Amino acid sequence: MKILLITGPPYSGKGTQCELLEDKLGYVHVSVGERIRTEKANGTKFGLSVRDYEERGELVPDSMMSGVLLDIFTENKDKNIILDGFPRTIAQVDALEELLDSIDIKLDMILNIEVPSPELIRRAKKRAETSDRKDDKDPRIHFRRLEIFEERTRPAIEYLRSKFEVTDIDGTGTKEKVTNLIKEKINL
Ligand code: ADP
Repeated sequence: MKILLITGPPYSGKGTQCELLEDKLGYVHVSVGERIRTEKANGTKFGLSVRDYEERGELVPDSMMSGVLLDIFTENKDKNIILDGFPRTIAQVDALEELLDSIDIKLDMILNIEVPSPELIRRAKKRAETSDRKDDKDPRIHFRRLEIFEERTRPAIEYLRSKFEVTDIDGTGTKEKVTNLIKEKINL
């Protein structure tokens, strides 16, 4: 199992870049947010219990997330994956490291897509116009998600940097430009 981890703020284009990478690398894109929405749609116990957090743009508590990570790793143990949406907190960095140690797997690469806040807000507004996601409809939720990123995920990325090598990617400009930057960094 090879793992490419992708981090960055909401609206940084992670999802779009992951789709392209999935094609190029032949890795499976595993989005933790998407996973949550699928569990919700299937009405699983986990899906129902995390629904309120997701719809309000709040993070699901760490204690509820470690099981999901384990499930993802177990289900994909014979595949190579692009993991998108984990870790989002400092505690999740530790949980990820512990899990990797316990199964003796190393991260192949960590990409961190960087986009300045004003641009993120602009993109969030655009997404609100086109998305059917509940957490995309309300501008207050967009703001909240960006706030949570600054409060909880940015420090987690810094913490991640203290443990692993993180490759920063400038996420501004066109999708193609960002894809090309990523391709250069991972020698595609
Ligand atoms: P985006 O890609 O737009 O940033 P996601 O689809 O990855 O958002 O995530 C949507 C929601 O799922 C988050 O707002 C949060 O409620 C929940 N979520 C996703 N990943 C995590 C995580 N690692 N820890 C806690 N909650 C998470």
